Amino acid sequence: MKYIGAHVSASGGVENAPVNAAAIGATAFGLFTRNQRQWSPKPLEKKNISAFRRNCDKHGFGPGQILPHDSYLINLGHPEKEGLEKSRAAFLDEMQRCEQLGIDRLNFHPGSHLNKISGEQCMQIIAESINIALDNTSGVAAVIENTAGQGTNLGYSFEHLRYIIDLVEDKDRVGVCIDTAHAYSAGYDLKNIATFNKVFGDFDEIVGRKYLMGMHLNDSKKVLGSRVDRHDSLGKGTLGTEPFRFIMKDPRFDHMPLILETPDPELWADEIATLKKMQF
Ligand SMILES: [Zn+2]
Ligand SMILES: [Zn+2]
Repeated sequence: MKYIGAHVSASGGVENAPVNAAAIGATAFGLFTRNQRQWSPKPLEKKNISAFRRNCDKHGFGPGQILPHDSYLINLGHPEKEGLEKSRAAFLDEMQRCEQLGIDRLNFHPGSHLNKISGEQCMQIIAESINIALDNTSGVAAVIENTAGQGTNLGYSFEHLRYIIDLVEDKDRVGVCIDTAHAYSAGYDLKNIATFNKVFGDFDEIVGRKYLMGMHLNDSKKVLGSRVDRHDSLGKGTLGTEPFRFIMKDPRFDHMPLILETPDPELWADEIATLKKMQF
């Protein structure tokens, strides 16, 4: 069973996200549970929480079909005390929002060293940040997204993901989300079935299949190995449609949220319909 959807708007309240997802034929969705441009957004209100749960039930979205994304302001590997403390507090707040909403996983970009510390030091800080968040919550997994490796972002190689996971104490509550556009920009060739299988074979060996808890399905505006993060609509970019067909036909990607973060919301319903058809 494939759960396919898009990162939909939660404007006006988190409870609108499942409604927006159902309207485009989605069987999964991503969302921001808070205003992602603010450090201290207001807490969720009881009425929003119960409306969210009600709308998820009504439209058939269970916990494994929802993949929230944390705020882009957060850097869990921040090299400086103030930035790190702010990031850790905001991340904990995001994890707690997931707890309140009955969501079992939170997707985030691991962090950036900002040229002030080594990559290894930064990944150790990231792992410690994850441990702190897991210690103070229950029932929510921290899902590390692979990055394109733009700027000083870490997490662009499977080895980075492995390094961080190794330092996380509760291995049952850490996972990985693979973004196809980021992977391609980071040098993982998903374009033909032979290289696609090689990439996910390497993933199984280095990271481990059991950690895969979601996928972001995006085409890319950039070439293989560009290290630049620019999403494109499916079939309109450098990846083309084939990698998405491979994913749709592959049982390794069953039972997890498969989320579009493509740039044109007008196309999401068509993109979802196309992906659904590719399964057969
Ligand atoms: Zn992301
Ligand atoms: Zn992504």
